[in-house]
Amino acid sequence: MCWVPVDASSDFPLENLPLGVATFPDGHTAVVVRIGDFVLDLPRAGIEPELCRRDSMLNLMASGRLSQVRQRAGELLCGEERADLLQPVDAVECRLPFAVGDFVDFYSSIQHASHIGRLLRPGGNPLQPNWRQLPVGYHGRSGTVVVSGTPVVRPWGLVAQGEGPARLQPTGALDFELEVGFVIGSAGRAIGADEADRHVIGAVLLNDWSARDIQAFEYQPLGPHLAKSFATTISPWVVTLDALAPFLVEPPVQEPLPEPYLRAGRPWGLDLTLEVDLNGTTVTRTGFSTMYWTFAQQLAHLTVNGASVRPGDLFGSGTVSGEEPGGWGCLMEISENGREPLTLDDGSTRTFLADGDTVTLRGWGGREGTPRIGFGQCSGRIDAAPERGW
Ligand code: CA
Repeated sequence: MCWVPVDASSDFPLENLPLGVATFPDGHTAVVVRIGDFVLDLPRAGIEPELCRRDSMLNLMASGRLSQVRQRAGELLCGEERADLLQPVDAVECRLPFAVGDFVDFYSSIQHASHIGRLLRPGGNPLQPNWRQLPVGYHGRSGTVVVSGTPVVRPWGLVAQGEGPARLQPTGALDFELEVGFVIGSAGRAIGADEADRHVIGAVLLNDWSARDIQAFEYQPLGPHLAKSFATTISPWVVTLDALAPFLVEPPVQEPLPEPYLRAGRPWGLDLTLEVDLNGTTVTRTGFSTMYWTFAQQLAHLTVNGASVRPGDLFGSGTVSGEEPGGWGCLMEISENGREPLTLDDGSTRTFLADGDTVTLRGWGGREGTPRIGFGQCSGRIDAAPERGW
């Protein structure tokens, strides 16, 4: 069948064929398909060369020809051997696959929202009254969405100082957020909850880096602002909705029943396994199928007021957390907001991230006996805050 050797534990078998953008050793940049530990140079293979001889997937996504491109790539990889069209992935530089248009981030894990609510409002109702009636979210900053491997510089911001006025300082509470991001390939507005697959072309892993001390001082009454706008990291491979289709499942039962525009007749939950490594220690392992609001409901909500989406827009699921320790999707939860340090395999402890730390997200779908469809890695290392003259 496929003439490229693919290890059984690989995220990238023939059934996956995610797309991305890579710069080759000779300096040229092209849209590529990932297979095992290799990338397939699409323009060189004669597959949509006009759309793929570019430093962005945007034109290809907007063309509506993504399915055909994956099909032709699959046929080529199962036909006559053409090793000259492949390059080891370690020899190329993976780029941001497309310049992100509008970026929205949701807050749709009931386990995460309840846990954060208990940390912020002890003794109160952990969920705000609107939470079960709409997918809570905010409009984020697209210009600082970066690809995996890009260093993340510790941000400065205003941090409360007890009873005194807040002061500008480097954050002392830098955190990651384990999320899945959904990529728009086809424009629309007022999108029905069962029409998501006409507009979402695929998914990536997404780390919504967050500065908790800056966030705590700024977030009321309008929500997060500078605490999250300095960097958002995504994985380089857009795993298509076609490849993820085997993992679509019924989401949790919703109580109360949401308004009709948020009701779907098709199963839009996604049965994925997600992990976070901090300096090589696995600190989180959880599942995506427990998300209360699905990406289809998020898209329906995002556009119900007439707001449009365009190819290249991106929306994040919100931090993915399970019920138990070990399944929590950010350090604020893992360390109980800084009160209980986490011990890493090297014996060091963390409440929040230190300079030099590397956070790596991984995610995949697949059970015993079925191909593993994965995202690869979404990784970032923390660089020290720059010196300032203030
Ligand atoms: Ca987030």
